[in-house]
Amino acid sequence: MMTNFVHATYIVSGLLFIFALAGLSRFQTSKRGNAFGILGMALALIATVASVVSPEEGEALDTLGIILLVGAVSIGAVVGIRKALKVEMTGMPELIALLHSFVGLAAVLVGFNSYLEGSADTFHLAEVYIGIFIGAVTFTGSIVAWGKLSEKLPSRPLTLPGRHWMNLAAILLIVGMAFWFVPTRSIIPLILMTILALLLGIHLVAAIGGADMPVVISMLNSYSGWAAAFAGFMLDSSVLIVTGALVGASGAILSYIMCRAMNRSFISVILGGFGETGSTGPATDYGDYREFSTAEVAAELAEARSVIIVPGYGMAVAQAQYPVAELTKALEANGSLVRFAIHPVAGRLPGHMNVLLAEAHVSYDIVLEMDEINDDFPETDVVLVIGANDTVNPSAMEPGTPISGMPVLHAWEAKQVVVFKRSMNPGYAGVENPLFFKENTAMCFGDAKASVQAILASLPAGAETARV
Ligand code: NDP
Repeated sequence: MMTNFVHATYIVSGLLFIFALAGLSRFQTSKRGNAFGILGMALALIATVASVVSPEEGEALDTLGIILLVGAVSIGAVVGIRKALKVEMTGMPELIALLHSFVGLAAVLVGFNSYLEGSADTFHLAEVYIGIFIGAVTFTGSIVAWGKLSEKLPSRPLTLPGRHWMNLAAILLIVGMAFWFVPTRSIIPLILMTILALLLGIHLVAAIGGADMPVVISMLNSYSGWAAAFAGFMLDSSVLIVTGALVGASGAILSYIMCRAMNRSFISVILGGFGETGSTGPATDYGDYREFSTAEVAAELAEARSVIIVPGYGMAVAQAQYPVAELTKALEANGSLVRFAIHPVAGRLPGHMNVLLAEAHVSYDIVLEMDEINDDFPETDVVLVIGANDTVNPSAMEPGTPISGMPVLHAWEAKQVVVFKRSMNPGYAGVENPLFFKENTAMCFGDAKASVQAILASLPAGAETARV
């Protein structure tokens, strides 16, 4: 009876996860998608707890299992709720990387537990071996990604001599040891493989440069899904297999989409930046830059018929989306055409800018993807680059830098560009930005939120009366 209830609930959960993914694929339906995901997860949790606390007829109550379950769920809930309440939007990528590492570690522990239970079935041993391998790579790779995203580790790639040969040797050894492990069931190859996989995870992600981190994040997301799916095989848990496969497949699709958006080879990125030659190189003297006060920016905007706003990571840091939304309304009421240009890797998460703008109730219709708006810059009067840097860097169109080849927003083609940032420092990829030195560019220094608020306050009367 209980088994039927648990299986039926798992099927419903699996369906809800599919609805969740479908909902999350569009901004308009994303809230509904989230609700489906939460419901699916709650049902899966209830069914799992029910299967432990209420054994089948003839089976003894597993008291130790219940204590462990309650303990683990309580600790997890306290830590999770605290983290979720405290985390800033800009800290989400690091948190996600850390959560991926937990999935990887869980898969390693489940794998060893499953091995120690003693099954001699070849298929099961292969599951254990592959599950531990993926889990170990995900575990350490995600920790390095967390370090890079939280700037505790340098974002520049670690390029050890002969690194591709080292990766290849590690993979060959891992494959070779599988032929030692499965027939003999010896723990030695399993432990050696785990150590190698842990080192491989560190090395693969450490070798990836800052600009390619978006692909790594989605790739680790995919790995964590496959790690969970293999844990599901080992635990004979259908819901874990289904959920893991959904996460694994959607993460792989997202990685592919990100690679295409960044004009990167998927294989090259997953092999730790194979073929990368770009370096940030010595500082170049691009000459002088101009500076605008917020009053000067307001005067330019009051005259502008068309405005494109390019948001980037700095808008998230400054939490400037609310005054930016207010500025948009004021300019629209003043008769300007205002649109947003979203680069696929702007910010630190796929869709980061869209989430911020949705939070500030900016209409979806004026938020355009790079491909939809990149040809419109030459006919635009003013471009406001708000905390974006790498995604508007014309160096990407030249060879020899870590961002070379990545399509960027052609902001410099507009009549006037205003860049909002606090200093002349480079962006996440560490590449100097010649856009800042172009004749039609002016820098507006300061925290983006404070600058936009000051512009709102200085807008001439016509535009200001439109403020909400
Ligand atoms: P960048 O990270 O290139 O630049 C952000 C800019 O914001 C900085 O130059 C910084 O300049 C400025 N800034 C920071 N804080 C503030 C503030 N309070 N007020 C005003 N400006 C501020 O941003 P982009 O969005 O253009 O590019 C994203 C980069 O991140 C790309 O290299 C991408 O590959 C990478 N990445 C993206 C991920 C994703 O999934 N989207 C994931 C991981 C990495 P200053 O310090 O002078 O103020």
